[in-house]
Amino acid sequence: MASAEKLVAPSIRIADRLNRISVSPTMAVLAAAEKLKAEGIDVADFGPGEPDFPTPDHIKKAAIKALDENRTKYTAAAGIAPLRQAICDWHKRELGSSYTPAECVVNVGGKHAIFQTICALINAGDEVVIGAPYWVSYPDMVKYAGGVPVFAESEAGDGFVLRAEVLDKKITPKTRIVIVNSPSNPSGAVIPPAEFEKILAVCKKHGVFLLSDECYSHFTYGDAKPYSIASVSDSKDTLIIAGSFSKTFAMTGWRLGYILGPKMLVDAIAKLQSQSTSNPTSIVQYAGLEAMRGPMDSVAVMLAEYNRRREHIVAGLRAIPGITCNMPQGAFYVFPNVSAHLHATMPDDGAVAKALLDNEHVAVTPGGAFGAPGHLRLSYATSMDRIDEGLKRLKRFFAGQA
Ligand code: PLP
Repeated sequence: MASAEKLVAPSIRIADRLNRISVSPTMAVLAAAEKLKAEGIDVADFGPGEPDFPTPDHIKKAAIKALDENRTKYTAAAGIAPLRQAICDWHKRELGSSYTPAECVVNVGGKHAIFQTICALINAGDEVVIGAPYWVSYPDMVKYAGGVPVFAESEAGDGFVLRAEVLDKKITPKTRIVIVNSPSNPSGAVIPPAEFEKILAVCKKHGVFLLSDECYSHFTYGDAKPYSIASVSDSKDTLIIAGSFSKTFAMTGWRLGYILGPKMLVDAIAKLQSQSTSNPTSIVQYAGLEAMRGPMDSVAVMLAEYNRRREHIVAGLRAIPGITCNMPQGAFYVFPNVSAHLHATMPDDGAVAKALLDNEHVAVTPGGAFGAPGHLRLSYATSMDRIDEGLKRLKRFFAGQA
């Protein structure tokens, strides 16, 4: 350079909004387990929150066809029109709602859908009430947007079902959104329809949005059935539905999700998306179109297998002295309470998870990350053999703690 001026490197100062959040704890468990696996260690991995089934063939073929047909260009930022229609049709058919494509925006996964909803609605200081235990990402999304997460607790003894009366007490004039997730990650709790209607009534009474995360809608067991609060008449002004293709269609890596909600909100999300990600990947949208229009047989196959594993892992955990465990009604997680095993050198669930990984190479996620200290989250989206191996190690570990 001709000039003799001193060059100055920019100091790395990360923006405040990013300093308010942390790396997803579930991703951290994933990374720690992957590191051990890369060293050739046999990890009993109960970490991943994703189906261990492949994406159904008919969906994969639709993506291949889209590629062959050169559907590889930009699409409308909010998603292709046939997909928005197909999502509304599927949601109506499966869950009894009545949305139109103008009330639907397609996003880059359910996480992106929820993130953008929060960014679209939350100003600094606004409160968001979150049913606890909660999916790890909700509080950080709220904090990123400058909002304040407020937690509405549910009780293990009540199956971790969020109760409308608890929620009611948490809502203040600053509340803008209530977030519920049923079936729940991490607890597997399913809110019964009558309670869900009471929750909707509370939101209506206070004039706050009810954001219902339906990511696990089709993984319900026993008496619990797939249900959407959007099937209730007169709910649409208050409701925001977040949906995901990830779990229902074993499509976690494809990144496809959606929001159904009031048109003004949908338009705001589409605007944000138009200035950030633009459209979800074009060929993925065609795969999603097939998922919405095609057969649902693969879901029933996965569900039957998850059900077998659920009963097996709960029985195995309950057989370990000092562990209590609810029978989850949905999703593919168990959420045992291990607090009877805490002591001076292993004082909390984070320490239990670390000791389990270090000593027995069992990967679990500490309950504190979900707002429920004393618990561990185990995903049973892993084979029966691996569940048995993990249970054997858990039994050995906790026997050593006695
Ligand atoms: N909501 C809940 C409760 C989840 O557990 C997840 C993923 O684990 C998501 C939303 C987001 O899923 P995705 O972004 O893969 O659609």
